[in-house]
Amino acid sequence: MIKLNKVSKWYGQFQVLTDCTTEVSKGEVVVVCGPSGSGKSTLIKTVNGLEPFQKGEITVEGVSVGDPKTNLSKLRARIGMVFQNFELFPHLSIRQNLTIGQVKVLGRSEDEATERGLKYLDRVGLLAHKDKFPGQLSGGQQQRVAIARALSMDPIAMLFDEPTSALDPEMINEVLDVMVGLAQEGMTMMVVTHEMGFAKKVANRIVFMDKGAIVEDCSKDEFFNNARSERARDFLDKII
Ligand code: ADP
Ligand code: MG
Repeated sequence: MIKLNKVSKWYGQFQVLTDCTTEVSKGEVVVVCGPSGSGKSTLIKTVNGLEPFQKGEITVEGVSVGDPKTNLSKLRARIGMVFQNFELFPHLSIRQNLTIGQVKVLGRSEDEATERGLKYLDRVGLLAHKDKFPGQLSGGQQQRVAIARALSMDPIAMLFDEPTSALDPEMINEVLDVMVGLAQEGMTMMVVTHEMGFAKKVANRIVFMDKGAIVEDCSKDEFFNNARSERARDFLDKII
């Protein structure tokens, strides 16, 4: 579904991605990990066109992301993205946060958008909070709303960029539980995270990055039991 072929990117003179090749099949969960600054956020942002790249090719269901003729807003509307800092609209209620994209981007009616939005809000266990504002919810709750909002758009895949790293420890699991549920239902997911418990539970593959390059791309068993590169073994020693 998502294919990256020798993707390279530079910020001025600085090469942030070097020949990154990997793919995510339908229903697969790929966890991307690696040291801070290794290019993980940049890599997943290239997938939905949030970051341009200079070399290589990315396709999503056969549509080329780097092709200037591709309608990037249309592509982005089909890929859910969840960031570290929730990024809900602070001045809108939870219900409005859930409906605004559906109405503005997908052209759904308010009624239809509300029905779908509340269905997903219920699914993440927060229906009772529909009339509150983001600032009245905990970080973990806001992140669950952000996931519900992305799901309301009927995405073909979901991208997560360290969705739990801004959360207090006691809130991490409530978000991971939602993500595990999604994975088990067959959602196609690319997840930047250092939560190796999550990776062990649901990842089909692990992509390990270092200095802008994909150093390992293998099954989780291979990664955790028999990582080939010293850099991956060092990384695992430090975080587990
Ligand atoms: P990660 O998510 O793995 O921590 P990033 O993708 O955020 O890594 O960043 C990779 C590298 O690119 C880092 O060295 C970072 O400083 C650099 N970088 C990120 N964004 C920019 C930018 N807008 N301009 C210049 N350098 C950047
Ligand atoms: Mg990052």
